[in-house]
Amino acid sequence: MSKVRIYTLAKELGLDNQKMLDVLNDLGVNYKSASSTIDDDIVELIRAMVAEEQAPKQPTKKEDAAKAEDDGGIPLRAPVVTIMGHVDHGKTSLLDYIRKTKVAAKEAGGITQHVGAFEAKTSRGKIVFIDTPGHEAFTSIRARGAKVADIAIIVVAADDSIMPQTREAVAHAKAANIPLIVAINKMDLPGADPQKVKNDLMALGLVPEEFGGQTITAEISAKTGAGVEELLEYISLIAELEEFRADPNGEFKGVVVEAKVDKQAGVLTNIMVQEGQLNVSDFLVVGENYGKVKAMVDSYGERIKKAGPSTPVQILGFSEVPQSGEMVVSAKNEHEAREIVAKRVSERREAEEAASTRRKFSLNDVFG
Ligand code: GDP
Ligand code: MG
Repeated sequence: MSKVRIYTLAKELGLDNQKMLDVLNDLGVNYKSASSTIDDDIVELIRAMVAEEQAPKQPTKKEDAAKAEDDGGIPLRAPVVTIMGHVDHGKTSLLDYIRKTKVAAKEAGGITQHVGAFEAKTSRGKIVFIDTPGHEAFTSIRARGAKVADIAIIVVAADDSIMPQTREAVAHAKAANIPLIVAINKMDLPGADPQKVKNDLMALGLVPEEFGGQTITAEISAKTGAGVEELLEYISLIAELEEFRADPNGEFKGVVVEAKVDKQAGVLTNIMVQEGQLNVSDFLVVGENYGKVKAMVDSYGERIKKAGPSTPVQILGFSEVPQSGEMVVSAKNEHEAREIVAKRVSERREAEEAASTRRKFSLNDVFG
C-alpha cells in the first residue's frame, strides 16, 4: 500500500500543517510528526472531508490571535541548518551553490562577510546555514551542551553511497535529536545510483519515505543546482512543522560559532543570536571572560546596531578568543559582567578543589 506524508497531503489540500495535524488528532490517527506517513484509506477520508468543506477556509483574525496566545505570543524564527557528510561528497559545493544563488547581496557586487553562517532567502522564508561544513564545529558546539542547528542535511554522493563519515554525521544528528534530510548529491554523474543510497540508508535505520519510512531524501546536484530548490522547500516544511520560536524581547542568549584573532581588528567572534536581542554597546559574558560589543556586522558585511533571533553576526569586543560552542549571555553593565565572571571563576575553583581533595583521599586509601 502506498503511503503519503502528512505535510505532502496538507500541501495538496491547501491546509496549513497545524490544521492538518488537528484533523488527524480529531480522527484519532496516530502519527509521530508531520513528516510521518499515513495510510491510503485515511488519506482518502481526509480528501473527502476537505472536498466537503469546499475551499479550505482561511483562519479568522480571532483564531490567529488565539494561536498567538497559545504560544505565549512568541514569534517564529528562521531555521538554522548544518550540512554534514563524508569528505568530498559535496558539502562545500552545496553551501557555495546556495550562497551564490540564494544570498541577495544588498549592494551590487556586494561581498558577503564570513560570520560563520549565512542567510538564504527562499520563497518560503529565510533559512540560516552554518557555513562550516564538517562535524568538528557541530561536535565541539554540542560537546558544550549547546545546540546551534535545528536541522541537519546529510550529504551523500550518489556515486559513492554511505561512507564512515556519513555514519558519524547521522549519529551526530540523532544524538542532537534534530530532524535530518538526506541530500543525495552528484545526481549529474553517470555513475549516480540513488537507489543504492536509499537501500544503504536502511542499514542506518533511516527508511526513505518511498519505502514507507520517515526519512526525507532529496536528489540534487550541487554542480548544476538540480533539486536544490526542492531541498530548500523540505527545510522550510520541516521548519513550519517544528515551529522554531524565539522571543526577540526576551533575555539575550547566543552561541559562539567560531572565533579568531585578526591582526588588525583584534578578536572577531561569530555569534548566532538565539534569543532576545544583541546590541552594540552590550556587555557580554562568555566563559570566564567578558567584553563590550564595540562593533557588529551581519552576514552581508554591513554594520548593524542590533540583531534578533536566528541572526548570525560577527562582533568585536572580547579580549580573549572564546571557544566554539560557548554560550554568550549579556549583563546589564560592566559591574554585573564582572560579577558573573567572578562567580564562574570561584565556582570552577571550588569544583577543582573538591576534585583534588577526592583524589588525595583516594590516594590515601590506597597508600595509607
Ligand atoms: P566536501 O568535502 O564534502 O566539502 O566536498 P566538495 O564540495 O569539496 O566536493 C568534492 C568534489 O566533488 C569537488 O571536486 C566538487 O567539484 C565535486 N562535486 C561536488 N558536488 C558535485 C555534484 O553535484 N556533481 C559533480 N559532478 N561533482 C560534484
Ligand atoms: Mg568541504
